[in-house]
Amino acid sequence: MARFKEVKQPLLFRAFGAIWSLSKFTFWLFIAFVLLIKLSETGPSAKFKDAGANPDFQQIADLLYAGHEAQALALTKQLLASTNAFSSLERCWLLQTQGEIYLKRRHNHLAREAADSCLALDIADNHRYEVVQWRNDIQQRIDSHQPERYLFKSYVNLRESGFAKQMQGEIVVLYIYLEDNLWQGWSGTQRYMMQQYMEQATHWYQQQAQMYQQAPPKFDVHYYYLQTGRGISANWLRSERFFADAAPLLLEQMGYSSWQQMHDLMTENGKKQLAVIFHSNLEERSFASSCPKQSTDCKIEYVMLTEESLVTNRWLVPQVQAHEMAHLFGAADLYNISAAKDYASTDLMNYLSAELQYAEIAPITAWAIGWGPKPTAPFELEE
Ligand SMILES: [Zn+2]
Repeated sequence: MARFKEVKQPLLFRAFGAIWSLSKFTFWLFIAFVLLIKLSETGPSAKFKDAGANPDFQQIADLLYAGHEAQALALTKQLLASTNAFSSLERCWLLQTQGEIYLKRRHNHLAREAADSCLALDIADNHRYEVVQWRNDIQQRIDSHQPERYLFKSYVNLRESGFAKQMQGEIVVLYIYLEDNLWQGWSGTQRYMMQQYMEQATHWYQQQAQMYQQAPPKFDVHYYYLQTGRGISANWLRSERFFADAAPLLLEQMGYSSWQQMHDLMTENGKKQLAVIFHSNLEERSFASSCPKQSTDCKIEYVMLTEESLVTNRWLVPQVQAHEMAHLFGAADLYNISAAKDYASTDLMNYLSAELQYAEIAPITAWAIGWGPKPTAPFELEE
């Protein structure tokens, strides 16, 4: 609704010079309208002031209209880097365009940076006022998504603990659906969907690895369907009993006599890594049960996915899968460290992106999962 209100505001039209012909005016009005529709989907939108009939800008508008956001973003970056030929107002337009794309991706910090870059330019007061408002909106978004930000002060990594040590080489994943015959079950369609998401998550890790000059890890995902023979409750899933109850059922289905035997044969005696993921569609909160740092014989390490997101928030699933897997390989949460609020803001362990493809592994998580050196951080990295 808000976007129509914005279109009616006379401010939007101010940038169109009076000397423009009617046809040009109509064209830009159309482009501006399309941009507003396209870009205001995520909430408050900056007012687009088309700073001139620049063909590059038209190309950006065309790309956005066609849904090629990544290309539009790349073009804005290229234009901002390549020339001083643009006026401050034009540069600001490019930055605002970038900012709106970032907002759609939920990369609020990057949008705020774009706003700050615009404010550093020599722009007219009325335009500055609008950008300041826009920046305030962005800041408000950042501030309103911090439910657990102040729980911790340092980063407790679990690097190289357990049997999922580093996200490298060949990784055997056991993906186990839990069903209780009562009310927690999985339809074939739901399982197929989860499998598709899991493919997205593993593919994403392979792409991210390349950013760190790592050979892409190979994932070999095996799916199992476990009838627990009892009611699945949040308490049980979180209890120590859970693994003692579930492991024998899984081993029986896999045809192994012990967890150790299963581990050794599945990993070729430790040549491969093993990641265990349980998935119950109970509406609860996902968690990872990782091995403590110094333990040498810890074998109980798994992820518990319990997602309410199946029906309403499907976009979350691959991000939750990837997030919890990172825990198995040693990464810690960043979203609950106070000093990480403005640090590694696109990292999967800190903020959710609009889609997994926009999320990143920042150097701190890369370090934790074995992809890079220890970075500097505005908080303590416990070893
Ligand atoms: Zn987490």
